[in-house]
Amino acid sequence: MVVRAGREFLAIPGPTTMPDEVLRAMHRPPLDIYSDAMVQLTYGLLDDLGKIFATKGKTYIYIANGHGAWEATLTNVLSRGDKILVLESGRFATGWGNAARMMGVEVQRLKGDWNRAIRPAEVEAALRADTTHEIKAVLVVQVDTASGAYNDIEAIGKAIKSAGHPALFMVDAVASLGCMPFEMDAWGIDVAMSASQKGLMTPPGLGFVAASDRARDVHKSAGLRTPYFDWTERDGNEHYQKHSGTAPVHLMFAQRQALDMLFDETLPNVFRRHRLLAEAVRRAVGVWAEGGVLDFNIVEAQQRADTVTTIKMPNPAALLTYCREKCGVILGVGIGDLHGKAFRIAHMGHVNAPMILGTLGVVEMGLQALGIPHGKGGVTAAINYLGEQVAA
Ligand SMILES: *Cc1c(COP(=O)(O)O)cnc(C)c1O
Repeated sequence: MVVRAGREFLAIPGPTTMPDEVLRAMHRPPLDIYSDAMVQLTYGLLDDLGKIFATKGKTYIYIANGHGAWEATLTNVLSRGDKILVLESGRFATGWGNAARMMGVEVQRLKGDWNRAIRPAEVEAALRADTTHEIKAVLVVQVDTASGAYNDIEAIGKAIKSAGHPALFMVDAVASLGCMPFEMDAWGIDVAMSASQKGLMTPPGLGFVAASDRARDVHKSAGLRTPYFDWTERDGNEHYQKHSGTAPVHLMFAQRQALDMLFDETLPNVFRRHRLLAEAVRRAVGVWAEGGVLDFNIVEAQQRADTVTTIKMPNPAALLTYCREKCGVILGVGIGDLHGKAFRIAHMGHVNAPMILGTLGVVEMGLQALGIPHGKGGVTAAINYLGEQVAA
């Protein structure tokens, strides 16, 4: 017996559920790429990305996923032989660093751990030790989608400042932009990047980069620049230069609609919705953990992301299969060091209470059906929490 007829629900951290309005926005013919409407679409998105990143710096739109946007950031500010410092808190900053290494950049890794966030004091110490200022950039993710760690970007920015180090501060916000507060200028970030398919509720295919004036200054002498990603080319006055060729018209229609929806809800409410739904997930996991089999991957409560929760558990495959095959809920697998040792519940983007409570209900049903020891009443704890927080 299965109970999966109906809409399948993707609870993975990207691509995320897209609003029907976003899907519908693409169902139309392309614009003339020389028309005023097209030019306005481009400039409107570039401006609004500045609002989402909270920067007065320049923004760029690439036809790329997150990996492509990583490459866009690296090529624009680095040269072969430069050294960078990569802050480890899971898989993604190190992945970004590996891309840099392939391009001939020397990578120093600040060793972290998969079960905690980065310690700003360790960042400061590493930078103070670099007395000759060989490190050209510091790379970090706001949310590590593999470990579920949330890094305090503001505190890391302050650590860089108090070390008095001139390295560029580069932040990956793929798994957090449009879900959690991000303050590029206020936090002293020089280069930020993200992608369309997670909190920004749009099909995969657009990569976003924002650059501070200081980053654009460093860019002038960067040796790794390539024609498609190049900021100088894109800073030109002709509209086609904004895209280094044909614009990704339909993805832009979709992203326009998604940003309109975020602005209609207002960013503070979007962030609060994510916080509440994430906490509902955490309440349930906290109760299930009493069974002694599963537990949070991130040990400290305040270091857990509001966009994805990584749950450690031996052999999660049977649970994931049950949820998918019997109930039509697709959970995230453990990746990297957590492969086969964890699963993930995404709660980013176009999510609401029924989606989250439904997902939690299915996980609890799976735990029950498979006889996996767990504390009873996880979903009830989530409901009690939301019922208190969302007043009548
Ligand atoms: C998903 C993700 C990426 C990579 O994005 P792709 O679009 O899969 O290339 C990079 N960083 C973080 C934090 C992510 O969650």
